[in-house]
Amino acid sequence: MKAVAPSYYPLFRCIAGDCRHTCCANWEVDIDPETYDKYMNMSGAFAERIRSSIVVEDDGSAVGEPHFVLRPDGRCPMLRDDGLCDLILACGEEALCRVCDEHPRFFNFRSDRIECGIGLSCEAAIPLVLGWDKGFSLVEINDYPDVSEEEPDELETEVYESRDRAIRTASDRSMPLSLRVGLLTDELWTTEKRLEVLMSLESLSSEWVELYGRIGGKSDSLDLLDDPGYTQCFENLLVYFLFRYPWEGARLACELLLMVSDCLKANPNAGLFDIVREFSSNVEYSDCNIDDIAERL
Ligand code: SF4
Repeated sequence: MKAVAPSYYPLFRCIAGDCRHTCCANWEVDIDPETYDKYMNMSGAFAERIRSSIVVEDDGSAVGEPHFVLRPDGRCPMLRDDGLCDLILACGEEALCRVCDEHPRFFNFRSDRIECGIGLSCEAAIPLVLGWDKGFSLVEINDYPDVSEEEPDELETEVYESRDRAIRTASDRSMPLSLRVGLLTDELWTTEKRLEVLMSLESLSSEWVELYGRIGGKSDSLDLLDDPGYTQCFENLLVYFLFRYPWEGARLACELLLMVSDCLKANPNAGLFDIVREFSSNVEYSDCNIDDIAERL
């Protein structure tokens, strides 16, 4: 099965030791069964260290759910003080478990292809995705020969055609971005309503709670989308949401965009990239938050 991705995708590189907000902390990393077996069968002193850093929780399955036990400061036990990974240094990147190897990439499985993207909780992904100035297009990347391919049914075809039309509208620079948002959806929540929704979601960091806590619920941020200093980044962000959430539709993408712009309006000194990183880490990477928002639309 072929895999496609936005044309910036192959350019992504993890900045490892230079990362200020490493993804190797504050998340519990689940180890997939294949990698777990590999760790169990490795020999040598480092293999002992790996095994002693893993706990297997009883989830009712035959083996349980193995994961690395975070240190008291929330960092992965393999993460060094200089931000590099001991596991990669000792055994190479091929020794990483699937979650670490794939992060911050995401995958949407269609009947006849896999769509891959780069998630915005990663500080190296944000300038690449939001700063992209060559227009949105998809390129073919690796094949996935072990994934079988089927003909998409009518509904799937309709959903993706509608998503692709929405991406074209979102990218049409003959109109201000606020107008494009108006063409994508007939209805939008008020800032107050969006704030109410944000407050009801699960939040992982106090920084994010502080950022949205300043919104206040009154001032509409639609005008900020047309600010020449931000409009290209907001366009790319809207396209990212449309691409990532095809089944939820354009309304969700527009509301997510406006949650970010509401936040920027309330925190003009915070910087758009930092707000996007907090938004993505807290809202997108919690399994149920996007479903919660979509259900309320
Ligand atoms: S957040 Fe991104 S840049 Fe930072 S360590 Fe993780 S993958 Fe690398």
